[in-house]
Amino acid sequence: MKTTQVVVIGLGRFGTTVATTLYQMGHDVLAIDKDPIKVQELAGQVTYAVAADATDEDALRELGIEKFEYAVVAIGSNTEASIMVSVLLKSLEINNVVARSVSKLQGQTLDRINVDKVVYPESDMGTKLAHDLFLPGIEQYMELTSTYGISKIKVPLRLVNQSLKNSGFGNLRDRYGVTLIAIQRGEDIIINPDENQNLISNDILIIAGPDEKISDVVRPTTISTD
Ligand code: ATP
Repeated sequence: MKTTQVVVIGLGRFGTTVATTLYQMGHDVLAIDKDPIKVQELAGQVTYAVAADATDEDALRELGIEKFEYAVVAIGSNTEASIMVSVLLKSLEINNVVARSVSKLQGQTLDRINVDKVVYPESDMGTKLAHDLFLPGIEQYMELTSTYGISKIKVPLRLVNQSLKNSGFGNLRDRYGVTLIAIQRGEDIIINPDENQNLISNDILIIAGPDEKISDVVRPTTISTD
């Protein structure tokens, strides 16, 4: 993967996770926080960690921020700082500024100042948790609409050693009313699998469909596979 230069501003829980994950993925990460203790805690886990007030344009210029391809404004509850820093980064002509928003109003403001992407980790996590609670057995869920999504589920025991056809996935969209997009088998991904493909234990099924139909795949009793 291409190494990208990313600056992450605001090293709370969210910013720290973004910064360290990007660094582990092999990217060059400059992490900035005005609190020197937060910066010290991150030493060795990112490329550079610097204590600076990111609302200070001179401080950002001294750090050569304008050369970065990506910037993540991870400041959340300090709305004023989040907006000021985002404006500064756009005025320094950083092409990809991603800003975290903790409220709708903050998000709308960030959109208006032409931030490239606004993310809502708290509300996304809340939505995900609500879906996870009512879709037990589902390992990962991505909402497409409030009632439709893409899920990763561990192959139910009753379907192990059966072909897709016999499992109810014949013609890919069959008995369950969902679409089987792919099977993840260890490090391999079998896209658009053939209906004669056998399922084996520990396979992960990646399926798209209405929530209640997805849960039918997980729930053993609702549908017979005979
Ligand atoms: P999290 O939920 O990610 O833990 P939080 O909502 O508790 O964060 P925020 O107010 O969003 O806290 O602040 C996140 C971090 O951003 C803090 O570590 C704070 O020191 C830092 N920060 C806030 N303003 C600035 C600024 N102007 N320059 C640099 N860092 C800042």
